[in-house]
Amino acid sequence: MEERFICENITSNNEGHLCFAGQDVVKLAEKYGTPLYLLDEDRIRERCRTFNSAILDCLGENAAIAYASKASSFKEIYRIMKSENMYVDVVSCGEIYTAAQTGFPLENALFHSNNKTDDDISFAMDNNVGYFVVDNEEELFAIQKEALNRKTVQKVLLRITPGIDSHTFAAVSTGKVNSKFGSAIETGQAKRITETALSQKNIKLSGYHCHVGSQLFDADVFTRTSAIMIKFIAEIKKSLGYEAEILDLGGGFGVKYLFEQPTVDIKSIILSTVDVIKRLCKSENIRLPKIIFEPGRAIVADAGMTVYTVGTVKRIPNFINFVSVDGGMTDNVRYAMYKAEYTLLTANKMNEPCNMKANIVGRCCESGDIIQKNVPVPESIQRGDIIACLTTGAYNYSMASNYNRIPRPPIVMLKGGDNRISVKRETLFDICALDI
Ligand SMILES: *Cc1c(COP(=O)(O)O)cnc(C)c1O
Repeated sequence: MEERFICENITSNNEGHLCFAGQDVVKLAEKYGTPLYLLDEDRIRERCRTFNSAILDCLGENAAIAYASKASSFKEIYRIMKSENMYVDVVSCGEIYTAAQTGFPLENALFHSNNKTDDDISFAMDNNVGYFVVDNEEELFAIQKEALNRKTVQKVLLRITPGIDSHTFAAVSTGKVNSKFGSAIETGQAKRITETALSQKNIKLSGYHCHVGSQLFDADVFTRTSAIMIKFIAEIKKSLGYEAEILDLGGGFGVKYLFEQPTVDIKSIILSTVDVIKRLCKSENIRLPKIIFEPGRAIVADAGMTVYTVGTVKRIPNFINFVSVDGGMTDNVRYAMYKAEYTLLTANKMNEPCNMKANIVGRCCESGDIIQKNVPVPESIQRGDIIACLTTGAYNYSMASNYNRIPRPPIVMLKGGDNRISVKRETLFDICALDI
């Protein structure tokens, strides 16, 4: 890896152009137009394999990795997950439908969300989704009712709030007692929902789920969470005689967006977490449950890059410079939403020193439409230059909108030196497709 880049799939060539997955980003921009999402398929597969081999090493077949598909959901991603033997998380009929369209085996899907409507529940059962991750008692009753109607038994995991503060950004922290998600151990609600689940004839309680946050950088959060969950499982075995078969520890593995951030060692986090689980299972006298992890961001984030063309460059002496690009909060809402950090590079001027700073802004009619502030750029930056925003594979396309009636960019998949369209560019016709 070239020392100056944040991920090994990023390099530059003799022409001073940025390369992604070994391909010239400036040429890709010419070929497909901008704004443009690039995804490195080889990197996605490599990340799946890193997770899968880590669990295989310490748990054998008694484990699974579920890709949290809300990070990036479109048909080709489910085909890739299927071929990499991944489970998937889904959170809506839209994601279930997309996965089903590709023939993804939905018995290997976990259906999340804190508010599944009756229609969602019915649609998920139509599609034989393997596991419902149940957030609350009300939902449990709704699932029981629909399963009874169909004379089936639905497997469920209960979402438990372990009471962990993951010290990540509030909007992505979900493990505390006062979270919108799950039933807390501390308040006794986790035990109560377990009793309720066990009493429902058309529900098979398979185990527990928790997810404490996102962008986590050390093993500590996972080991502490596991310890709480295993003790809870042991407590439930003692008091209710029920022993969980599955323990799903959620996702949240951190990703490097900035040069100064650490690289997360997936394997070592998984090994140390499983180590704690195995030790506690022994001392608490419970059998080792099947362990599931649910990475989203860590599978796709650094496999992604967004490519823009520079338009207006505005220099306000002694204040700030603005570089406007042909995309914005419609393709990447994460800075506007929670000041997410990104690294941006001027893709056609990689050999020039970046001796000026600019706010890279979008084309939407909102002053909050910012991709990133204070980005180092070459002094010569001008209309027609190409800017790349790195690490945009997660929560960019999946959060994209048509604000200002701007069509969404295409996704071009890069694999072994080739490139192909996986999602077409939206057209103006598409923009009006639903209007009467
Ligand atoms: C969002 C989410 C994930 C994935 O989180 P990442 O930070 O993308 O790894 C996993 N599980 C659940 C329940 C989630 O809501």
